Amino acid sequence: MKELLSVADASARLLKDFSPVGSETLSITEAVGRVITHDVISIIDLPAFNNSSMDGFAVRSADIRAASIENPIELSIIADIPAGKVIESTIKPGEAARIMTGAALPPGADTVVPVEDTDQFDELTRMILPYRGRAKIFRSLQPGDYVRKKGEDINRGDTVLPSGSKLRPQDIGYMAMLGISEVSVYLKPRVAIFSTGDELLQAGESLRPGKVYDSNAYTLSALVEREGGSPIYLGIAADEEQSIRDMFDMAVSQRADLILSTAGVSVGAFDYVRKIVEEYGTLFFWRVNMRPGKPILFGYMHDIPFFGLPGNPVSAFVGFEVFVRPALQKMIGIKEIQRPFVHANLMEEVKSDGRESYLRAIVSPQEDRWVARLTGHQGSGNLLSLVQANALLIIPSGVKSLPIGSEVKAWLLEDVC
Ligand code: AMP
Ligand code: MG
Repeated sequence: MKELLSVADASARLLKDFSPVGSETLSITEAVGRVITHDVISIIDLPAFNNSSMDGFAVRSADIRAASIENPIELSIIADIPAGKVIESTIKPGEAARIMTGAALPPGADTVVPVEDTDQFDELTRMILPYRGRAKIFRSLQPGDYVRKKGEDINRGDTVLPSGSKLRPQDIGYMAMLGISEVSVYLKPRVAIFSTGDELLQAGESLRPGKVYDSNAYTLSALVEREGGSPIYLGIAADEEQSIRDMFDMAVSQRADLILSTAGVSVGAFDYVRKIVEEYGTLFFWRVNMRPGKPILFGYMHDIPFFGLPGNPVSAFVGFEVFVRPALQKMIGIKEIQRPFVHANLMEEVKSDGRESYLRAIVSPQEDRWVARLTGHQGSGNLLSLVQANALLIIPSGVKSLPIGSEVKAWLLEDVC
């Protein structure tokens, strides 16, 4: 029998084919989770001006060099500077200005004395006292203390985020801080999804003998959505050639960038998907040395990349995680394909059949390491084993059993702890 394609070879072969499908300009309020098409460059210095990092008094540090609790130095307060206000007059020797956090330092001052280090602080209410024309300083400070210097975070022209970054909430906030209101991002790929199978019903219909509810389309739509694509649900195709071909036509009219189907791709009497791709499209590969998910297909239909995923719900999920997710990451513009993982020690013996296996598990931290235990029986139809899992354990090909305590790689399916 011909040796099956390895996961690594199949991935390498198909990932070359994926790249972003275009770009658009969005308001930063709509851009979280999107990937930028160019470097974000600072157009200003941040801070844009020297400002106070404390509520207190802007002083000339030379004036308070000898100040201490035993020997306070009294200064005359010539101005009150709340945040947002700018004072033109210069602080001269013997003078100071009351200043609030974030307010621009007045000319002449080089240091801020926190209010707690002056006689203008009410210990009882822990509040600053009402404004008055004099203040005693209890502490000596160096030039620049409690001053946020112009440009100390970033200078105009510096790169903030390299092209290919996926925007996180703090990135959105930082762009706003720089005064950037719009950003160019890669388009969301349109992903057409259909299920195949005469046994399938839609959730909401009443269950009839011999039928099962379509779950794959729902899982895949949610995965596509989470990975930054736009899912387009096309419906359920019957186990008939024409019905399946109609779905591909529909994907074209929906301007799909990628097509996903499930089931009908194995060796059953009514499994037409591969035959259709061979006849009307281009078949890249069919079947990979993995478990679950062996009967997976990748090719093109009407020049649109197409994954025919297996029908069993766990297999469809694993097929997505292993192949579709990295392809989608490339389509949304991510440069370095990433997947969070940990190394975990098995809490039970694990058997495999020599194929590269993806087992459903819970990983949890235990002292200085991670431990893993399997969730439920590992049948490829048992989606509950995934519902209860937070990780996929990867058992390499060629391995038939691993004793308790063995270290395995675990892909994290979500934030763990
Ligand atoms: P197949 O790949 O067509 O041989 O299907 C394999 C198994 O997956 C069968 O038990 C199907 O009933 C089941 N299956 C196929 N499609 C779906 C689906 N969309 N949702 C849930 N189960 C499915
Ligand atoms: Mg079937």
